[in-house]
Amino acid sequence: MGTFTKILAASICVAFLAVRWTRPSFDPESLRGARVVVTGASTGIGEQMAYHYARFGAQIVITARREKVLQQVAEKCLSLGAQKALYIAADMASESEPEKVVDFALEKLGGLDYLVLNHIGPSPFHPWEGDVEHIKWLMKVNFFSYIQMAWKALASLEQSKGSLVIVSSLLGKMASPFVAPYTSTKFALNGFFGALYHELAMKKSNVSVSICTLGLIDTDSAMEKVRGVTNVPAYPATDAALNIIITGTMRQPELFYPWFTRTVSLSKDWFPSVTSYIMQNSYNYIP
Ligand code: NDP
Repeated sequence: MGTFTKILAASICVAFLAVRWTRPSFDPESLRGARVVVTGASTGIGEQMAYHYARFGAQIVITARREKVLQQVAEKCLSLGAQKALYIAADMASESEPEKVVDFALEKLGGLDYLVLNHIGPSPFHPWEGDVEHIKWLMKVNFFSYIQMAWKALASLEQSKGSLVIVSSLLGKMASPFVAPYTSTKFALNGFFGALYHELAMKKSNVSVSICTLGLIDTDSAMEKVRGVTNVPAYPATDAALNIIITGTMRQPELFYPWFTRTVSLSKDWFPSVTSYIMQNSYNYIP
């Protein structure tokens, strides 16, 4: 190896180590007393996020439609160490309820540090057969309510140097068969909050926006749909939840979980026909 190559290799190693050592790391203590709203927290990833925030000593407001289940999750959050665990039942398809949830949190917590938007309405896993009404409804739940809540919370997040965390999907970056309504809502989220991220950065806002791209996660609702249909590996909800929280806390603009979702989302632009081939052949489907 020539002297120049050795110097170049050594410089790259030093630069890599410098970046790693100086990179800020996640400080769980920063979440003690943090005022957090988690939507879709009665089950799945949202429920797991509520438990992690609770262990970190946060003050939490959780929401979903099923009040009894929310009550049980809130009780468990208190037993895990949450400073406060409050719940409010709300249907995100309603015009007014998304904003009521934010008002409730602002009143009960006296402000907001994290708004974690995670809920999704149920949607079938099969080829699209023309149900336009379902897409309109799903857009209300999975998209419009996110915008309403973000707007309502923005002033408080600005004051607290807070964070807006959007739980999205690999299916918001690349379309997949059998989930046309769902994938549309996730593309819409990525577009809207991607634009908002730039606008807030350009006006030097205090609010950070994190968009989380998830692959298949082993929640009951997801596994019910894909069992026997695909062999794509599913990753643990509790780990996905922790990664989302860390991303929001560190004010990172993006999360790709598991790691290969970043590679997969790049592959659709670099190798479109290969990606389409793999996509169309990764399901057990007989028309
Ligand atoms: P779940 O289906 O397990 O949970 C959905 C949550 O949303 C529940 O708490 C449900 O509670 C609530 N919800 C449903 N409909 C409404 C409504 N109309 N109004 C208010 N709340 C509602 O979802 P996951 O945990 O699997 O997913 C969480 C997030 O992660 C979603 O944004 C999803 O897109 C994303 N994601 C998940 C993946 C996975 O494989 N699991 C993969 C990629 C992304 P209730 O019924 O009580 O209202």
